[in-house]
Amino acid sequence: MGLSNRQIADILGVSEATVKRISGKTLKRFRTPPPTLQSIRRTLVRLNTVTRYSEEAIAKALLPHVKADQIQFLSEYLSDVAELMRKDDVVVRRCAECGDSIPSRTDARYCSPRCRQRAYRKRVTALASSGEIDASS
Ligand SMILES: [Zn+2]
Repeated sequence: MGLSNRQIADILGVSEATVKRISGKTLKRFRTPPPTLQSIRRTLVRLNTVTRYSEEAIAKALLPHVKADQIQFLSEYLSDVAELMRKDDVVVRRCAECGDSIPSRTDARYCSPRCRQRAYRKRVTALASSGEIDASS
């Protein structure tokens, strides 16, 4: 769903005229819908298929149509993605209480209501022992 120029102006904190001045190309980037896992996997499978051919054959086929920098950009992009995936704590979120992994697609701090409750009780106890609040209330 595309945003109107008015909505984009509000989000960016600029005038509607400024939004109109910005090229359509730039705005399209804001409107790119979130990718689905399925669409990403399909793309990766297709990309992988290309590796069946020799580098020379691909280079020769692409040369008249695609800039080398575009290929390089893709390579660097995927390297960055792979690096993030290897950093366990970036992609796999860990429960702040027990350290178990948290199911993806949530921004929860704890793996379960039990851990959330346990962490809460610890905080209350810590605060109470420091005399800041009354734990019995
Ligand atoms: Zn937990």
